[in-house]
Amino acid sequence: MVKKIYERPIIRPLNSGMMNKFGTRTEYLPVTHIDGVSVKSLIAQYGSPLFVFSERQMRENLRNAKRTFENRYPKVQFAWSYKTNYLNAICNVFHQEGSWAEVVSRFEYDKALHNGVPGDKILFNGPDKTDDDLRIAIKNNSPIHIDHLDELYRLTEIASEMNAKPRVAIRVNMDTGIYPMWDRFGFNYETGQAWDAINKILASGKLELVGLHTHIGTYMLTPSAYGVAAAKMADLALGIKNKFDTKIQYIDMGGGFASENTLKGSYLKGSDIVPSISDYAEVICTALLNAGFKNNDLPALFLETGRALIDNAGFLLGSVIANKRLSDGRKATILDFGVNILFTSFWYDHKISPAQEFGMHTEDTVLYGPLCMNIDVIRENITLPPLNAGDHVVVHHAGAYTVTQSMQFITLRPAIVMIDPKGETHVIKNNETLKDLEHNEKMPAYLQKFKLT
Ligand SMILES: *Cc1c(COP(=O)(O)O)cnc(C)c1O
Repeated sequence: MVKKIYERPIIRPLNSGMMNKFGTRTEYLPVTHIDGVSVKSLIAQYGSPLFVFSERQMRENLRNAKRTFENRYPKVQFAWSYKTNYLNAICNVFHQEGSWAEVVSRFEYDKALHNGVPGDKILFNGPDKTDDDLRIAIKNNSPIHIDHLDELYRLTEIASEMNAKPRVAIRVNMDTGIYPMWDRFGFNYETGQAWDAINKILASGKLELVGLHTHIGTYMLTPSAYGVAAAKMADLALGIKNKFDTKIQYIDMGGGFASENTLKGSYLKGSDIVPSISDYAEVICTALLNAGFKNNDLPALFLETGRALIDNAGFLLGSVIANKRLSDGRKATILDFGVNILFTSFWYDHKISPAQEFGMHTEDTVLYGPLCMNIDVIRENITLPPLNAGDHVVVHHAGAYTVTQSMQFITLRPAIVMIDPKGETHVIKNNETLKDLEHNEKMPAYLQKFKLT
């Protein structure tokens, strides 16, 4: 017989509307292992909090997405969205699976080069490319995705100076029926801006128009919006073929497929409502195949999928610091990680599981981080069993935008490990030290000494 676990008693007021005398049952089972490695041992070895990535899950996500699109379309190329997670080890897993790189800044561009991605396989997006950035991209033969007319004119001048013909695409924004519309990046389709930019490029003959790019939004729950977008992109490509007898090499549909995270305020869980990759693939591929391209004019389909490929491969492990009662009677639990490293908790209700066995009692709980600021709330309300100081929790779907958007505030950022498909763990980033942090600080000589009385 298994020994029953001790659970400290709790007293709480009865509320109307409870499903039974114990309240709503927690929907989650304990998560004691990730890819066969125990959460306790990971924390014992690498500390708490700790980011953990599953290499197996990442490879599976990409292979599944590739297969899904390639089943429906003859020429598909994924490019890893660096800003979603640009830890070099993470990028290289996707590069090993055949992904190119998609970058939105010079910093990311240099990272991709250092990782060994050939220049012509780095798609250079973003509104802020300096003259120097453009020169480097031209030298490396990278497709430059032009964001605005000022960039187009600058690039044209630089190309003339360098006596080069850069490979370019334009970023197109459009009405896909999703509001608010993302119209701050690129050239608008409906107003004719995009067509004007295309005409300028092709008439000047100084740039080689190789593609068309769009990125209609992020965490898009409506696949049909991609059908609208793909049809409008195809319309531009066919217009180019018609007027200039020029074949566009690729249509880049950007990223934005939703991960299974749950948006705050959503009535249903993300895992219940998020479309699958095949839902997106079906509308995109159908729209392109039906658009009227002659068979050998069919452009390649580029995808810059970010969050949908990494979110479920990332976990954040943490520990309970303490419990307390708020003045209104609610239970609060303080964890050792806050919004500094789980920035995404501002817009997601992250799924969080206890990492040890628990009984049937649960309680509505507020989860706070350890930061000394009021906005440090991980979950405003979650049904959890009583957790004791020292217990561990696992945050799910913590792979996208957590590491890249983390901020350093009053504490040092934790280590990051990857579990390989054999179940071996590898540190892919050490925990920050005070030395790392102060590395670039300078102390003027006259401030070096002081005396306190
Ligand atoms: C952020 C971004 C992506 C990735 O978006 P996800 O929503 O994470 O899939 C792709 N392309 C561009 C241009 C981006 O800015």
